[in-house]
Amino acid sequence: MHFARFERVRLAHLPTPLEPMDRLSDALGGPRLWIKRDDCTGVSTGGNKTRKLEFLMGEALARKADVVITQGATQSNHVRQTAAFCARLGVECHAILEDRTGSNDPDYRLNGNVLLDGLHGATIEHVPADTDMGAACETAAEEFRAQGKTPYIIPGGGSNPVGALGYANCALELVNQANEMGLKIARVLHATGSAGTQAGLVTGLRALNSGIPLLGIGVRAPKEKQEANVFALAQATAEKLGCPGVVSRDDVVANTDYVGEGYGIPNAGTIEAIEIFARYEAILLDPVYSGKGAAGLIDLVRKGTFDGAENIVFLHTGGSAGLFGYRSTFDAPRELSLAT
Ligand SMILES: *Cc1c(COP(=O)(O)O)cnc(C)c1O
Repeated sequence: MHFARFERVRLAHLPTPLEPMDRLSDALGGPRLWIKRDDCTGVSTGGNKTRKLEFLMGEALARKADVVITQGATQSNHVRQTAAFCARLGVECHAILEDRTGSNDPDYRLNGNVLLDGLHGATIEHVPADTDMGAACETAAEEFRAQGKTPYIIPGGGSNPVGALGYANCALELVNQANEMGLKIARVLHATGSAGTQAGLVTGLRALNSGIPLLGIGVRAPKEKQEANVFALAQATAEKLGCPGVVSRDDVVANTDYVGEGYGIPNAGTIEAIEIFARYEAILLDPVYSGKGAAGLIDLVRKGTFDGAENIVFLHTGGSAGLFGYRSTFDAPRELSLAT
């Protein structure tokens, strides 16, 4: 994997730290838990889209784009990070936000990521749930072309083979860190949504022949669909990297038991995970992605799934800006019980 062959703008703060979570590990009583801090990638409160955007915006600049169009749910972390990259690079940003949860809470509609999108100067277009978001981006692109501009469309979550390069590169970074520290990793877990993170990671981990299994914790789609999406993107990413066929279908595993009622709707397990991480590790998760990923981690540790394993790594994909869009979720104080 030779990433220097690809266009890239270097804005992320890398490498992100790989740190133990010893208070949490002691409280849960399972294997030693580690965290890969991709919430600390540096651009506008960080998150996993930053690694993808280094390659996507590299391509956009190479194509002389002067406006970037992208889309996501109202509290999209991807849109916020894209708006930040555009501000930093002096490119216009147009964001199409889908009202996927139907929430009328003013914090959800205006605070958190939406506040930051506006601060970075993005123009925002709100559309109802179940809009064809790909078509909405094409329509916007036509309008910009008619104005003589050069638009570049970034798909939802930045999840295409170009964006996924960022996570193949993250696999290389993680394996290098583990080797330097003498850390034997039994498994890596993270929240999986639009598939680019998992597809990039699985491609990188396999291309390196690391022997480290990966588990995506789903936040939206059912298991079969999520795994199929990740596998298709991993195949395309492997091809782009010059190692076609390196990922097999069995390498792609998603657990979708922690989605709850649906995308963007936190349940009791999500909220508990956010509170546990905040109080035991002073780490901020989010109600849409990393909180569900961590709920999966905690539950699987409690069930003894990793018994016998020495070290488990949770990749923190970011999203804490979204907490402010979900303020009322945390109104009632709760007692935490960490009995396993
Ligand atoms: C987008 C996102 C994810 C999911 O990553 P995908 O590459 O879309 O699967 C996970 N966590 C956070 C905080 C995100 O913003």
